[in-house]
Amino acid sequence: MSQFLRPALSALDPYVPGEQPQDKRYIKLNTNENPYPPAPGVMDAITREAVSQLKLYSDPTIAPLKQAIADCYAIKPENVFVTNGSDEALGFAFLAYADGSHPVTIPDISYGFYKVFAQLFQVPPKVIPLREDFSLPVEKFCSAGSMVVFANPNAPTAIALPLSEVERIVAFNPEHVVLVDEAYVDFGGESALSLIDRYPNLLVVRTFSKSRSLAGARIGYAMGNPALIDDLERVRNSFHPYNINRLSMLAGVEAMKDTAYFEDCCQRIMKTRQETAKALIALGFTLTESSTNFLFAAPPGISGKEYYEQLKERGVLVRYFGTERLSPYVRITIGTDEEMAVLLSKTREILKEANP
Ligand code: PMP
Repeated sequence: MSQFLRPALSALDPYVPGEQPQDKRYIKLNTNENPYPPAPGVMDAITREAVSQLKLYSDPTIAPLKQAIADCYAIKPENVFVTNGSDEALGFAFLAYADGSHPVTIPDISYGFYKVFAQLFQVPPKVIPLREDFSLPVEKFCSAGSMVVFANPNAPTAIALPLSEVERIVAFNPEHVVLVDEAYVDFGGESALSLIDRYPNLLVVRTFSKSRSLAGARIGYAMGNPALIDDLERVRNSFHPYNINRLSMLAGVEAMKDTAYFEDCCQRIMKTRQETAKALIALGFTLTESSTNFLFAAPPGISGKEYYEQLKERGVLVRYFGTERLSPYVRITIGTDEEMAVLLSKTREILKEANP
């Protein structure tokens, strides 16, 4: 750190992403990527000709991708905001609606970036603890009195909130933006998208990183009332108008168009999740009910940390968080059936050694 850094930034705890080894040494079940490749049309769209066009700036209106998203969800392009990963959508929303005198209400256990953005933008966070069973205390969010941000389904707990409960939170906070982060909704959650016409304060944030197999392309989006989208465009155009590169735009359009491929991948992942959950429960694990592409799982007889370390030694990476309430657990991304078979066999080995 240099002597020039602003004090507010020197005190910041930046987000720590899950390990991203760039070789193939591990079965990687730690950052909730999709084990299946992007839709076939994506591969065909990245031609030499497309690459040669990288000499030109990308389209700052992001019109083709907005249109593809709008077509997919039967909304209008004016309802759609597109960003470089959904992290950027979250960041722009914080910039648009929160500051030192406009706090944000967030759950204590959720996506770690919410707290980081609050620190970065010097927004006082109002942190509401999840209940003992990791469910969201909806009443407390109904009387938030500030912008509200939460993930549904939540991460790393994997638990989904029914749409009726999400609607209560949105309806009880008409003076404030309620941002529902639906990064994992395609794996069994109920989306709040159907509510955007009725609630001018609702912003639904999604990503191409999970269900569309495009984590490396960095595409996220937000959907909401056109006035909210206008706000976010003001921020984007004051910060980074070329935030979507040409190749990601092509990839995103193709991924959005191929509904059949998308649905097939999600179904396969949900089926593998169900089978893996059953096998882990049979081994004595404690699991939450997952509506995501990962399992939040506590092994029997050993700590989350030990299980994580033992798996890593055996070539399987999962995510361990280490905070007090999360320390018995790890988060396991659903991979292919073959990858999950390896996870299960390594797990049996570890448990046998730990509890001979
Ligand atoms: N929201 C949640 C709940 C997440 O888990 C993630 C991914 N780690 C994101 C948003 C951000 O994803 P991306 O920037 O890849 O779209």
